[in-house]
Amino acid sequence: SAKENGRGIWKFYSEDMHKVAHERRALEGELRAALQAGGMSVAYQPVINVATETISGFEALARWQHPQRGAISPSVFVPIAEESGLIMQLGEWVLRTACADAAAWPGQVRIAVNVSPMQFADPAFPAIVLNALAQSGLAPERLELEITESVFLDDKLDAARIFERLKGIGVRLALDDFGTGYSALGYLRTAPFDKIKIDQSFVRGAAHSGSANSAIIRSIVSLAEALNMETTAEGAETIDELELIRSLGCSHVQGYIYGKPVCLVEANERLAGVDSHVEPIGHKHSRDI
Ligand code: C2E
Ligand code: MG
Ligand code: MG
Ligand code: MG
Repeated sequence: SAKENGRGIWKFYSEDMHKVAHERRALEGELRAALQAGGMSVAYQPVINVATETISGFEALARWQHPQRGAISPSVFVPIAEESGLIMQLGEWVLRTACADAAAWPGQVRIAVNVSPMQFADPAFPAIVLNALAQSGLAPERLELEITESVFLDDKLDAARIFERLKGIGVRLALDDFGTGYSALGYLRTAPFDKIKIDQSFVRGAAHSGSANSAIIRSIVSLAEALNMETTAEGAETIDELELIRSLGCSHVQGYIYGKPVCLVEANERLAGVDSHVEPIGHKHSRDI
């Protein structure tokens, strides 16, 4: 009967949810163990200056190669880390590793590190940043902290005060994933960002998806320029997307078209290329032919 069916479905869902919760707890424990045992790594994705076609820096991205399950995506483990509080440890480890690795790069090359809202809200965070810089010897202006607009939603938090303290240290601030959240523009007035990162959802397919995405990117760029901020277009995969980004005036681009996140050894190799000049993958410029 329908009633039995319904009960059957409920039982199915309930077992399913139980499985998901169990899986999550298992992953959380394994993540904690990986963090303690040095089982995490940092990948570096190049950020390219559109005008000069050189590497302006890299974004540090956490990686977890699970011994049995294989590579686990940050879209899976970062939310688990945030819910369990492990993000404090993970984030600090990525920050320290990235600063130490970047300190050996040429002086103009920057390193961008993602900061979780929970880290941002930690009163000890500015001191942790200072210590990571001191330990690595990295100049503060070479470190760019990527923050999402969700930090503005926490009423208990005096975000402006924290931004002030971080700017006081001399690091750069970037607003990550811009356009995906509430995108209230008022906070741009007071928050001292050096850069706005335009979310990949506006970039991907922008060359084909009609004018809406282009119009949005264009208006973010003009807003950023008026506020004296740089822009990075995230997630450009094709030459069409790159050309569009260029024509819309984005100052920087980060996407598979110039390179996926790679290990430190490969990042160093890319930097060792002549003046770290870069080319879109699979596309040569006429002057090189
Ligand atoms: P995000 O900070 O916006 O980083 C950019 C993401 O876009 C990276 O994904 C990168 O690999 C991906 N990406 C860049 N270009 C392209 C492209 O052309 N095509 C496609 N399909 N993807 C592209 P990833 O490494 O999987 O990280 C996802 C998110 O996880 C990050 O988004 C960030 O929010 C979070 N995350 C990663 N590492 C950390 C970390 O150390 N701390 C914190 N708090 N979050 C992190
Ligand atoms: Mg980021
Ligand atoms: Mg982003
Ligand atoms: Mg993102």
